[in-house]
Amino acid sequence: MAEGDPGLERAVAIEAVRRAMVACRAAQGRLNEGQTITKGDLSPVTIADLAAQVVVNATIAEADGDDFIMVAEEDPETVRADPAIAGAVAELATAGLEREVLAADVAGLLGLGRSDTPQPASSRFWTLDPIDGTKGFIRGDQYAVALALVEHGTVVLGALGCPNLPNPDGSVGALLIADDQGAEGITDTGRSTARVHSPERLAEARVCESVEVAHSDQALSARIAGLLGIETEPYRIDSQCKYAAVARGDASIYLRLPTHPDYRENIWDHAAGAIVVTRAGGRVTDVHGAPLEFSHGARLEHNHGIVATDGRYHDEVIDAIARALGQ
Ligand code: AMP
Ligand code: MG
Repeated sequence: MAEGDPGLERAVAIEAVRRAMVACRAAQGRLNEGQTITKGDLSPVTIADLAAQVVVNATIAEADGDDFIMVAEEDPETVRADPAIAGAVAELATAGLEREVLAADVAGLLGLGRSDTPQPASSRFWTLDPIDGTKGFIRGDQYAVALALVEHGTVVLGALGCPNLPNPDGSVGALLIADDQGAEGITDTGRSTARVHSPERLAEARVCESVEVAHSDQALSARIAGLLGIETEPYRIDSQCKYAAVARGDASIYLRLPTHPDYRENIWDHAAGAIVVTRAGGRVTDVHGAPLEFSHGARLEHNHGIVATDGRYHDEVIDAIARALGQ
């Protein structure tokens, strides 16, 4: 898959995320204490995170060979440090890939293309959060498989799998795919163009934000909503499903307001979601209105927080944030 073969890249991204969703769903049904481990940073990570990363890496490698660059959340050392995990991961990855994955191959597949060093702006790399919103996943709520392709510092392709997202027709689960052709939502019942929704009046807009209070300042977002005349309760969902909600018009504003001034967002937490909203007609910046910069390594080093909107009301939201922050 040479650079400049967007049709194939798109197909591979859809298939990689679709298969990872199968592995995640298989795991969610049988999560138990023994399958939850803790990383050094105390965030919960399950065998499903690892299996989803194995499935995505293996799918890209099948199509593209294994010389791609991958900036992904999970570290193969997690498996090397506890070989017992490899067997459980292999079982789930086998379900996702529909071919046998050996426990002995898990660490190698997890580390395919691995890079966590800063990428020069000219490079081309994939970025993956195999399960974004792990806390939501463990609670049985929303989570996402988020895969994006970055070229020369720009996100050119995003595939966002939301296995538990309810659809308007009553079905559950959506995969949003975005590239320069636009944004599309794929469900079990069909495909449709994803398009943001702009209410008649800003006061009617629905705001979405994190469930986890540590990830976004909910008191500040309530003040901002107040400044905008919005009275509806916020829609709280885990993971990049918030970007999916804005891209499909389930909400019109996504606020992610830093709870700590030094926190820098991981690129894999935003690359796929940001292109999905942008290609659905919306706008994504940081809380100061600056564009997200995906060319400074694994984090959005030059950005603070996230604001994703339908586009029409973006400047007013940024203005309200500045007022709320007392600038
Ligand atoms: P969400 O489900 O939107 O609350 O976000 C989940 C993501 O929040 C995880 O993938 C983490 O990488 C990220 N995260 C962890 N700590 C913080 C923090 N202090 N502020 C913002 N995001 C965080
Ligand atoms: Mg994440």
